[in-house]
Amino acid sequence: MSSNRFIKFWPVTIAFLIGLFVFFAFQSSFHLSFWYLIIWIKLFAIIQFCGAYFIGLNFHLTSINNLNTTEKKVMLTFDDGPHANTEKVLEVLKKHDVKAIFFIIGKNIHGNEAILNQMVAEGHQIGNHSFSHHNWIDVWSTKKVTEDFATCQKLIELYQPQSKLFRPPFGVTNPNIAKALKQLNLQSIGWNVRSYDTSIKDVKKINQRVIHQLKPGAIILLHDRLDFMPELLERLIPAIKEKGYGFAENLINKDSVS
Ligand SMILES: [Zn+2]
Repeated sequence: MSSNRFIKFWPVTIAFLIGLFVFFAFQSSFHLSFWYLIIWIKLFAIIQFCGAYFIGLNFHLTSINNLNTTEKKVMLTFDDGPHANTEKVLEVLKKHDVKAIFFIIGKNIHGNEAILNQMVAEGHQIGNHSFSHHNWIDVWSTKKVTEDFATCQKLIELYQPQSKLFRPPFGVTNPNIAKALKQLNLQSIGWNVRSYDTSIKDVKKINQRVIHQLKPGAIILLHDRLDFMPELLERLIPAIKEKGYGFAENLINKDSVS
């Protein structure tokens, strides 16, 4: 769902350049203070930063950040697997009859093929979370990120051929990632409930945080590699149900894709 039309990379960049041109064109005749220039550059830098780091702004590309529903339904999403802990996560999901989306790091698949087979067999969706999840992926060239995403995509399609779902590593987007996704015809999936499970690390607090932010159509960001994830889910799933919410079956069904 596109939350804005104009606060996007190209309109903002063009407006910034026009601003610079106007400043230098009129600076001497109107004795404009250089403070205007500094404020303009700072404003541009802040917008660029927020655009890259807040996926929900849809600044570089349009992500699906919520389910297109007003019903009390939510979707759990797990990043960074498969991992030794993923099996226990799958067990808890099965016990509570909850389907989720797993965004897979391609390089983690080797040796964990059975986990991917199990995900698909149990009705979960799998998506691309890059092959390398490299720390510097955000500064890679378009060619390099496209190759990385394509390598992961080939592996994902071995298990779920129709999958076109993608979640950017670290949730960061930029023009090169946007081009790569367009080229590979992948749909970026963001979130609108961030659990901060990688930094809070306290099951009770994370549970409270997520419950506090619940809303119809929520897409919840979690990480299946964390040791406490099964314990968190044992608390969170019943708590979500207690609030009168159900779990969406998948994202591809036409009722839930925006
Ligand atoms: Zn990740």
